[in-house]
Amino acid sequence: MSYSPYLLKGQKALVTGASSGIGEGIARSLASAGAAVVVNYHSQAQEAQKIVDDIKAANGEAFAIQADVSNEDEVKAMFSQTLKHFGTIDILVNNAGVQKDAPFVDMSLNQWNTVIGINLTGQFLCAREAAKEFLRRGVQPQISSAAGKIIYISSVHEVIPWAGHVNYAASKGGINMLMKSIAQELAPHKIRVNSIAPGAIKTPINKSAWDTPQAEAKLLELIPAKRVGNVEDIAKAAVWLASDESDYVNGTTLFVDGGMTLYPGFADNG
Ligand code: NAD
Repeated sequence: MSYSPYLLKGQKALVTGASSGIGEGIARSLASAGAAVVVNYHSQAQEAQKIVDDIKAANGEAFAIQADVSNEDEVKAMFSQTLKHFGTIDILVNNAGVQKDAPFVDMSLNQWNTVIGINLTGQFLCAREAAKEFLRRGVQPQISSAAGKIIYISSVHEVIPWAGHVNYAASKGGINMLMKSIAQELAPHKIRVNSIAPGAIKTPINKSAWDTPQAEAKLLELIPAKRVGNVEDIAKAAVWLASDESDYVNGTTLFVDGGMTLYPGFADNG
């Protein structure tokens, strides 16, 4: 996928959890659309460095920062380093997320806290640091008509309940109101806050759901478009939400799910 390198020219972006999957795809796409990118990673230093090297090899600008998004001190340090290196930040993509699945009655407090800590608290902490910088700097019309953009990577499970994954579904449901409330509060400052809710996308997080023909066939029953999504499907939406092409879009969730949220079970059941 190639973008106009002028779409995000001069903009600085930070993508959390960008060493694999959807975050990697978004980091690469933002860079090819002209943004300078911070590739945040938790434990995959080599993978993150490879993405940085590839972006630089294509004449882009990038560097990697290790930080656990659920740790306030590490998030603050990551933003200080970003501002020191890039001078400011225009785009935050809050992507880092994990699953720790268990039947409800067997779910440990640790499984609950880990998922809420990374998927929800982590997204709060990063958004707060980005918003501080957007408010400090304000709009630079030659760069973007917004003072800043925050993009949450939520999930169809912000609306579809998910047995055996109550921590994950609760974290994504929480993102919905976190995103909308921040959008409402910051809109007068020309800050745009939106979510992308992916359906089933082929990445490491859900490998067991698509890595055998049987598993993929079962998954396709849930997808009216009859294909599992790929990271580019999400990255294209992220580039659009990061750009001024979506200047009048604020506080909304863009479902990129091949129709998964259309209740496909009702298609022949009416
Ligand atoms: P992934 O496992 O490849 O990506 C998750 C990333 O988050 C990894 O790079 C991981 O290292 C990073 N991460 C984990 N804990 C972290 C922490 N404490 N601090 C910083 N980074 C951390 O899987 P993915 O599918 O690319 O997931 C990315 C996002 O997309 C997640 O929020 C996930 O919930 C969401 N999502 C994925 C799908 C899908 O079908 N793949 C569907 C809906 C939503």
